[in-house]
Amino acid sequence: MIVESPLKTESALYSNAVPAGDYFMKVVKKGQTMRILDLKGNQAADTLFYNANEPAERYSAVDTIREQGNVYLSTGSKILSDQGNVMLEIVADTCGRHDTLGGACATESNTVRYAIDKKCMHACRDSWLLAVAENEHYGLTKRDITHNINFFMNVPVTEEGGLTFEDGISAPGKYVELKAHMDVIVLLSNCPQLNNPCNAYNPTPVEVIVWN
Ligand SMILES: [Zn+2]
Repeated sequence: MIVESPLKTESALYSNAVPAGDYFMKVVKKGQTMRILDLKGNQAADTLFYNANEPAERYSAVDTIREQGNVYLSTGSKILSDQGNVMLEIVADTCGRHDTLGGACATESNTVRYAIDKKCMHACRDSWLLAVAENEHYGLTKRDITHNINFFMNVPVTEEGGLTFEDGISAPGKYVELKAHMDVIVLLSNCPQLNNPCNAYNPTPVEVIVWN
């Protein structure tokens, strides 16, 4: 559901531009609101969430989908952990739909889906692995990389029950906003994918803006 935010960027605590192929990893505190802004349109922001005080508790696509009875995420979606707790809630969304079924791109899946010579292309999973290695203080390792949300990505379920990667429904300036219900580690990979239309074959930066 399309809902605009009343928040003004002038009153934000901070904002970070995240180039395609880079990551954003920070704690968003309980009560804070985080906006992911699709600056140029048709980008995909592959995002993981962990309880900052107990990182073994993390985002669960399974629990989130089951409890809301909908495979797509938008305004009103409660982002649930594997312990059934609300981690965040989507409070504004001008894109209208976000995926949590498609998973993140990896060198392995690029090889299977596209071609053997795609093996060396940079992928979201690489960015997450780099992020956990460069930020050891969070206590996360590659074993902690699990379900994710693909903000702005269009992965419709077909009549036959299959999944397709389609051209994005986002556009320049569209955003999604989440209010944290607990202190959460946000690990966002701004997707560098060049082989499918999730970012129109042209990866571009996104901006992460946080308010108190
Ligand atoms: Zn990706």
